[in-house]
Amino acid sequence: MIRDSASTFNNGTIMHELGITQNLLNLAIQHAEPAGARRITALHLVIGELSSVVDDSVRFYWEFLSRGTIAQGAALHFERVPAAFECRDCSEVFPRNANFLCPACGSDRVQVKQGEEFYLKSIEVED
Ligand SMILES: [Zn+2]
Repeated sequence: MIRDSASTFNNGTIMHELGITQNLLNLAIQHAEPAGARRITALHLVIGELSSVVDDSVRFYWEFLSRGTIAQGAALHFERVPAAFECRDCSEVFPRNANFLCPACGSDRVQVKQGEEFYLKSIEVED
């Protein structure tokens, strides 16, 4: 049975996480196989607070994408990075606030310093 995913996921992220999870799997296998690993047991991922990636969706896709690969059953560990902003006028670094203004000088010329990242930090393997 082919299920219409649009009826299950209506937030528009389905292809997003599916593609990301496939890339993660490919990346992990590319690193594990040349090293002679028989099995990938865990992936350590870094996910920013402002990242558009939904970790539950990644877990969901991981379950079936990894099936039949050396990464089947690998645990996914998410390390969360809080959002931080930097003022371009006074260089103040501050956490997310309600008005996105610099708390030190009141400037609205702020930029994201961290919190948008999503990447594979490391993998654990069995020889
Ligand atoms: Zn400032």
